[in-house]
Amino acid sequence: EAKTESLSDPHYFDYYLMDKLLERVQIEKKLPKALAESEFELHYQPKIDLSTGALTGLEALIRWNDPTEGRISPASFIPIAEDSGFIVELGEWVLWEACWTNKKWQDAGYPKLPVSVNVSAVQFRHPQFVRTVETVLEQTGLAPEYLELEVTESLLNDPVLIKDRLDSLKNRGISLSIDDFGTGYSSIYYLKELPLQVLKIDRTFIENTPSSPRDNSLLQSIIQLGKSLGLTVLAEGVETKEQFDFLRQNECDQIQGFYYSRPVDKAAVEEMLKSSSSSAS
Ligand code: C2E
Ligand code: MG
Ligand code: MG
Ligand code: MG
Repeated sequence: EAKTESLSDPHYFDYYLMDKLLERVQIEKKLPKALAESEFELHYQPKIDLSTGALTGLEALIRWNDPTEGRISPASFIPIAEDSGFIVELGEWVLWEACWTNKKWQDAGYPKLPVSVNVSAVQFRHPQFVRTVETVLEQTGLAPEYLELEVTESLLNDPVLIKDRLDSLKNRGISLSIDDFGTGYSSIYYLKELPLQVLKIDRTFIENTPSSPRDNSLLQSIIQLGKSLGLTVLAEGVETKEQFDFLRQNECDQIQGFYYSRPVDKAAVEEMLKSSSSSAS
């Protein structure tokens, strides 16, 4: 039924908040059923080496195909799954699916690449997290050097708890990336002390490059910071040739972005792997 939604209506914000709340509650209720009914799928976005142009890895990104609503964006349901705690179960599925798929690709003879999995702070802090990763690797048979975990800066605010956990993952050969770098706040001390391998610069730092001189020099500084810390530096959200060229000239190591490829489904990854192996041989 029609509601009066106008800023002059004193109840406008009540309606607005109520709608948002109902939407959250509905999504929260639908998540477990969606998992049980296989409505989730992983797409993969390639990572490219800027000096050689070679494919260096694939990031797994979750997609929800809801039978009535169509595709629901992870930006809307991941925060809800984090709040409700369901992310622990959903994240375990993502880990399993990504490792299993990567192992299948390797067994089929495609070039071997690491797969990256995004891990929420809630999931990472779960006491069983390291055990879950080990179990998934054992059950799928994927070698640990072909798994990378992407965590965000917010996690680093808890260095005492996470140092041990990061160390044990690293000691098992799993690589760790810091995602969306520059949007949270991490102390340079922790970036130096924690066992991280890749710094992924958030796309907001790439978006105005190279037209904004101020953003250009900021981006150059972040690349240098990452390199000084001994990390591989990757730029996210590269959409244009100008951005690509700027990053290459400024010695960024890797990129991801629509300029090279959007996240694509499994079949498209296989096509990509076929052509990358034929051009390499
Ligand atoms: P993220 O990990 O930083 O992933 C990058 C996001 O930027 C993806 O959005 C990707 O599609 C998008 N992107 C890539 N290249 C470009 C570009 O050139 N331009 C623009 N405008 N966007 C680009 P997506 O797939 O919607 O995912 C959004 C966020 O949701 C992810 O950000 C990540 O934080 C979260 N997410 C996705 N899948 C998972 C998952 O399996 N587990 C967890 N915990 N979080 C996930
Ligand atoms: Mg990511
Ligand atoms: Mg990111
Ligand atoms: Mg991001």
